[in-house]
Amino acid sequence: MQNETLNPEALPVDLATFRPPVSSGNKNHAAGTLLDKYGRRISYVRLSVTDRCDFRCTYCMAEEMTFLPRDAVMTLEECLRVARVFAELGVNKLRITGGEPLVRKGIMWLIERLGALPGIDNLVLTTNGSQLDRFAAPLKTARVRRLNISLDTLKADRFEKITRIGDLGKVLHGIEAAGAAGFTRTKLNTVMMRGINDDEFVDLVRFAVANTLDISFIEEMPLGAIHGRHTTYISSEETRTLLSRHFELIPSTEDSGGPARYWRIPGSESRVGFISPHSHNFCDTCNRVRITAKGELYPCLGQNDAVNLMQPLRNGADDSGLRQAIVDSMGIKPLGHDFTQQMDAPQVVRFMSMTGG
Ligand code: SAM
Ligand code: SF4
Repeated sequence: MQNETLNPEALPVDLATFRPPVSSGNKNHAAGTLLDKYGRRISYVRLSVTDRCDFRCTYCMAEEMTFLPRDAVMTLEECLRVARVFAELGVNKLRITGGEPLVRKGIMWLIERLGALPGIDNLVLTTNGSQLDRFAAPLKTARVRRLNISLDTLKADRFEKITRIGDLGKVLHGIEAAGAAGFTRTKLNTVMMRGINDDEFVDLVRFAVANTLDISFIEEMPLGAIHGRHTTYISSEETRTLLSRHFELIPSTEDSGGPARYWRIPGSESRVGFISPHSHNFCDTCNRVRITAKGELYPCLGQNDAVNLMQPLRNGADDSGLRQAIVDSMGIKPLGHDFTQQMDAPQVVRFMSMTGG
């Protein structure tokens, strides 16, 4: 892992008061840089603003979910404060996620402020698309750079089964609204499920190409107690082999800054990506941490260790206390997750909607 050369003048921190992180055990810290103990630089935070959702996707949630009581969820002001302190520590990319972020009351208040936060130059959002019809234009105005929209099927009845209550038409309108608002490089996220949507992967790529969208296929992850995952798991490799019978796929060297590996289709703007936590472990270049709606900082999606930020947030800690808690979390960021292809038992007890996908 290389350490980047930093220009101290470009760093959004007060160098007079900043205490370099010491607790992660790495001696190569520079001011404004979050390094974990393996020398990986953390520049990307995924912030879950709610655990609630207007869908109940079968791979993400149990049928009967108990959601957090309101006062256990970070207020919008607390979300903003956490984001600001991360930005002061050199984080420049922020993804707003959930649950469904666009069902959080007052969400635009937060997003407008995050878009204006010094140091954050890459504000992005993951959504199920159901509310985009009305939110796409304000999100664009609030300087959200890109959208990821989940879409597992193009069949309305199947969509209703997978999401338990979702309306495909609303999501398709949302995708249209994103384009009309001026969003480019919008990416579809498709969770691969054998016997559920694997007969549509080719159509989903055609849909992406026709609408100048990118698309990423995601290996299902064993998060939360949901039975039967082992029967539906499909590897990225299998899907890529299938797609390459229908499309010429040219490996792309482009890096979106995330775990996806991309392929291009000649004559199209679209990229086809694969997120493969099982078959290709991407932990060695991991640059991110996750904050749950209840203010837990998870250094790794695939591990159960977390640092509680709600405590410093609510016990009157000043910014340096909060900053120290974040810096301390670098010491528990593991080298990697332990997902195996044993999909019949949850390897992590949280649902994705808790941690933020
Ligand atoms: N509600 C928004 C959405 O659906 O895009 C944002 C949150 S959702 C938890 C983020 C992403 O996680 C979605 O693309 C969803 O498909 C994915 N996801 C949820 N549970 C998953 C699982 N067990 N394995 C892989 N991906 C999962
Ligand atoms: Fe909601 Fe997104 Fe989870 Fe589906 S994947 S239940 S849309 S949070």
